[in-house]
Amino acid sequence: MPKDFLKGCRDSYDVVVIGSGLAGLTAANILGRSGYSVLLLEHHYQLGGMATWFKRRGGHIFDISLHGFPFGMIKSCRKYWTQEIADSIVPLRGVRFENPQFSLETSYNREDFTRLLIEHFGIAPETVQRFFDTARGMNFYDDQHRTTRQLFDEFFPGRTDVVRLLMEPITYANGSTLEDPAITYGIVFSNFMQKGVYTFRGGTDRLVNLMKAEMLHNNVDVRIRTLVERIEVDPQRRCTGVVVNGRRIGARAVVSNSNIKSTILKLVGEEHFDPAYVDEARGVRLNNSSCQVYIALKPGDGFDFCGDLLFHSEHSGFDIEALLSRNVSSRTFSFYYPETRPGSDRWLIVSSTNANYKDWAELSEEDYLAAKEDLIRTTLDCLEQYVPNIRERADHIEAATPRTFERYTQHVQGASFGTKFEGLKVSQDLPKQIHGLFHAGSVGIIMSGWLGAVNYGVIVSNEVDKLLSK
Ligand SMILES: Cc1cc2nc3c(=O)[nH]c(=O)nc-3n(C[C@H](O)[C@H](O)[C@H](O)COP(=O)(O)OP(=O)(O)OC[C@H]3O[C@@H](n4cnc5c(N)ncnc54)[C@H](O)[C@@H]3O)c2cc1C
Repeated sequence: MPKDFLKGCRDSYDVVVIGSGLAGLTAANILGRSGYSVLLLEHHYQLGGMATWFKRRGGHIFDISLHGFPFGMIKSCRKYWTQEIADSIVPLRGVRFENPQFSLETSYNREDFTRLLIEHFGIAPETVQRFFDTARGMNFYDDQHRTTRQLFDEFFPGRTDVVRLLMEPITYANGSTLEDPAITYGIVFSNFMQKGVYTFRGGTDRLVNLMKAEMLHNNVDVRIRTLVERIEVDPQRRCTGVVVNGRRIGARAVVSNSNIKSTILKLVGEEHFDPAYVDEARGVRLNNSSCQVYIALKPGDGFDFCGDLLFHSEHSGFDIEALLSRNVSSRTFSFYYPETRPGSDRWLIVSSTNANYKDWAELSEEDYLAAKEDLIRTTLDCLEQYVPNIRERADHIEAATPRTFERYTQHVQGASFGTKFEGLKVSQDLPKQIHGLFHAGSVGIIMSGWLGAVNYGVIVSNEVDKLLSK
């Protein structure tokens, strides 16, 4: 008999949350803490969604998306999770840039960027201040038509080097481009500039296990290996439950943390929506996907501090096509020192590149394996300049591609950062289409990344609470 991962589940709950990404986890925790009966369903064998990790022989633990997030995570985790989680959030020491236009190290906050822009790039102090104030003053209700390119053209015309400094890390952080609305750039950039880049001491495994313990404390029923096949909607367009692992479970409200497009088009089905809304959902563009190469050094072998994050590029300027190309010329290296997991003796490196799903999806199995090998080879060639003799010193190396992210998170086209801006409206309008159905997960660029996802989980749990407490 196959194991029943729903054994002991009730027939109905106040809320069913589909997916345990950071938005789903946060929504489930807040609603459980508020006294609602909550069932959290996750198809994978591990919680966390893209906030995840994996273990390999020899005791190596790799983090997938723990490169860095803004300071705001501390407040969100203290309010909506626990003090212990908030207390484990610590700043990165340094961010490095190595490219044909400049080579520098920074603490990646407003103070240091102001210094760099004035002293290193020769920008007038009042322009720098006006730029920061403009970015910081941006919010969701501002003009959504001005693009990030137009914003840079206004403040730094012709300065491809400055654009690169300001844009490259944000592109890596959320997949945005110069053609996306300037407000998405302004909001995310200002979040980082507030106090620099932060990480979680103890690694993603510790974070997610602490979150799991808190959810259990708040009586959330947590189930892994449970794939929701369908969201049930009655003829009056009210959400009444889900079908998961072949079983129906009723709910007064459902929060889907699954990709917004799959939620609408696959889990519910377009026949339940207004045709105009379906058209809008179809029109939502996905953000790009990623490739990563994971490298663990032999136990005890390490390297001197060479930055926590290193934006390496051989490309002449900021160029989104080059960043996405399979012919990689730009990479972000995350260097993990033993302090990441206090008490460990491991130095690890994760190399990340933005990637187009279609470049990988259409390869034959043989070509796919060869392309992965090529990605590893070129990554090691590049890394050699920062960690000499890396090939002899590495104990474990492997690569992930958009196909890997698609498989583990069910995201359409392995999208790493949800959708472009228009996805936010479609996500927010979901309960207007179907009573009791909500979406919380990476959308609209501003609601993606660790902080965006957690905060969106908070916003949506408030909406669910309003509905249920009526
Ligand atoms: C390579 C990479 C690096 C990144 N680096 C960073 C970083 O350094 N800093 C940062 O802030 N962000 C980073 N991100 C982005 C960040 O990890 C995500 O934006 C965030 O974790 C997404 O959270 P989410 O709530 O949207 O859900 P997701 O993480 O997308 O999780 C959705 C969950 O729902 C589950 N699910 C989907 N459908 C179903 C179903 N039908 N039934 C049951 N379960 C289902 C999935 O299995 C998954 O667990 C990175 C992402 C990637 C891919």
